[in-house]
Amino acid sequence: MFALMNAPGIIIAIDGYSSTGKSTFARLVASALGYIYVDTGALYRGVTLLALRKSFIDTAGEVTEESLKEELKVVKFEFRFSEVAGRSELFLNGECVEREIRSLEVSGSVSIIARIGFVRNYVDEILHELGRRKGVVMDGRDIGTVVFPNAELKLFMTARPEVRARRRFDEMVQAGESPVFEDILRNVNERDKIDQNRDIAPLRQAPDAILLDNSEMTIEQQLEWLGKILEERWNLKLK
Ligand code: C5P
Repeated sequence: MFALMNAPGIIIAIDGYSSTGKSTFARLVASALGYIYVDTGALYRGVTLLALRKSFIDTAGEVTEESLKEELKVVKFEFRFSEVAGRSELFLNGECVEREIRSLEVSGSVSIIARIGFVRNYVDEILHELGRRKGVVMDGRDIGTVVFPNAELKLFMTARPEVRARRRFDEMVQAGESPVFEDILRNVNERDKIDQNRDIAPLRQAPDAILLDNSEMTIEQQLEWLGKILEERWNLKLK
């Protein structure tokens, strides 16, 4: 019992397709376990916002890589917990960019930025630092395959594309935007295609990851499903 109380916690790696509800799920799991939650996509989105602001991406989607590389040496990304939002938010050089990194403009370019090797190394360094302390839930595309291949628990999330686009659409409407459903569906499909086919750290299910298809599942059902696994394997309880 004593040993269990002092257990350092585990790393839970949640990968999967765009808009499968990974971050909502991961955030709830982390909070129910008293773990840290890290939204790794936010960092790729942050780097993309930086590249867009500095005009390092042209209209054809070509990236001025050398300039971006230099810029990454002098900028600072950090997560800060917001009491108001009840979650961590991304800051770029001290400015909260949480809202801007979720725009369709950033979503439309993020996969181009995320396939650049030095960008991935830059993000991985931040993630390794955050994962040093066990007791972490991270969601992304390559957490179980590349960033933490020894994570104790790996999940791979999927859902039908239409279901995913609908969820993203509803989120944007709630945020006061006026999205077009077809644009979102196209973005979801395009991002998945680029993420799966890139040379470095492509999106794929790790052989030891457990598949979670939540097309027909509520968030409560997903938590219940995971709760059983955590209890059976590690005697961890979701509070
Ligand atoms: O998770 P989210 O949809 O916010 O991620 C945005 C994009 O960042 C993904 O489409 C993918 O291109 C990239 N990403 C990645 N590896 C991760 C997390 C995100 O390549 N671990």
